[in-house]
Amino acid sequence: MVSTMLKPVWKVNATIMGSARPSRPRSGWSCSVTKWDDRVVRCSMISQGASFNTTFKSLIGLRAMRTGHFTRNILKGNDGITSMEDAPRLCPFCADRLGIADYREGRCEICNDTCMDTSLADTIDPTFEYHTFNVGVVLPKDVVERDEAFVREHELAHAHGIKTALNRALRSRLSERLNAQADTEDPDVIFEIDHIKGRVFYRIKSLALCGRYRKEVRTIPQTRWWCTKCRGRGCEHCGHTGKMYPTSVEEIVSAPIMRVASGRKTKFHGAGREDIDVRMLGEGRPFVLEIINPKVRTLDLEALQDEINKDERVHVYDLRPCEKARIEKLKNTKYRKTYRAHIDKKLSNNEIELIEKKLETEIRQRTPIRVSHRRSDKIRKRKVYKVRGNNNKTTVLEIYCDGGLYIKELISGDEGRTNPSVSSILGTHVRCTALDVLEVHCDL
Ligand SMILES: [Zn+2]
Ligand SMILES: [Zn+2]
Ligand SMILES: [Zn+2]
Repeated sequence: MVSTMLKPVWKVNATIMGSARPSRPRSGWSCSVTKWDDRVVRCSMISQGASFNTTFKSLIGLRAMRTGHFTRNILKGNDGITSMEDAPRLCPFCADRLGIADYREGRCEICNDTCMDTSLADTIDPTFEYHTFNVGVVLPKDVVERDEAFVREHELAHAHGIKTALNRALRSRLSERLNAQADTEDPDVIFEIDHIKGRVFYRIKSLALCGRYRKEVRTIPQTRWWCTKCRGRGCEHCGHTGKMYPTSVEEIVSAPIMRVASGRKTKFHGAGREDIDVRMLGEGRPFVLEIINPKVRTLDLEALQDEINKDERVHVYDLRPCEKARIEKLKNTKYRKTYRAHIDKKLSNNEIELIEKKLETEIRQRTPIRVSHRRSDKIRKRKVYKVRGNNNKTTVLEIYCDGGLYIKELISGDEGRTNPSVSSILGTHVRCTALDVLEVHCDL
């Protein structure tokens, strides 16, 4: 015995033009009628156990329709549409993705036959290294709007939107031709197939490498510093280099990597930065180097690190690939630091003891005069946790404190803008002659 539950459940929607009214169908079937205006009536009918044809004929049997659309659904099943006289004009791709069996051939009323045009996709011919890709089509706005209107009008709620369907189809087409792996989550490259501009853009994922650097000299900035007069074009002021300083940690670290990876440019993100005349010692400072548009992604990082470290000025440790998310983490965290400050006066042991006692406190620091042109003027509160003085030849202070505390001003007092300071505690003017960062306390 065949259970009726195994037989299909049909939902037939009809939009009926004309003044006739559908009457109630035979009992056991449900029918709802919505009157739009005098000429358009929308009705839907659900049948269980009958074939589609019976259901359909029953609705036709209402003698209501002279023209109109009929959509049929197996409830919770495939969507489909059948129609009488005015089947839509669709391309095979749109008909297929919308599940429309009856359609007229001709220029697609939704996509203008864009879906059938693979000429842009077929030009894709990457000359760079990638292991995974995704596709992103860009369609004219009116195509997307017509698609949405069509889906609404025909109640095809389960149909795939035109972009989703095209992206999927092109992924499998390209995967086969390029013999490459599609990845919608985190691909090495996105092939942006732009039907508005009529060209393909390669959106290559940047390469992120992280590590720690030491800076052994007091003459180079952390990042490339463009000439303030010409902004990089080259002028008298910068000796036609376009730069304020001949090189930087960024350039020394990235040069050997860029020779292999052939990127368009680099971005260097440090866990904070030290002044040009400050050395970065100890274990070094964490950084992420981003290589934009790399042509090569597989790098021998050990060899590259050795190559970088041939330079006497900068040394790199633990160079390895990382997630781009690490950049935000590095930038959004304040790290405590340990500094070594050389000062211009030889202090007595009593004076050192006094500083160790009085400086381990909360420091109120108004934006230093030195940086006030590029930092907003405000008072920062930062803590000094530990101070140790050393008095062998000259006086050296080791200071363990919050990140963001300006140490040169912590020594000098910055004309009273930093309080307390070494100067204010001793009641005399003291200056920092040389500064080293000994540790960036970062557990990333
Ligand atoms: Zn189409
Ligand atoms: Zn210049
Ligand atoms: Zn070296």
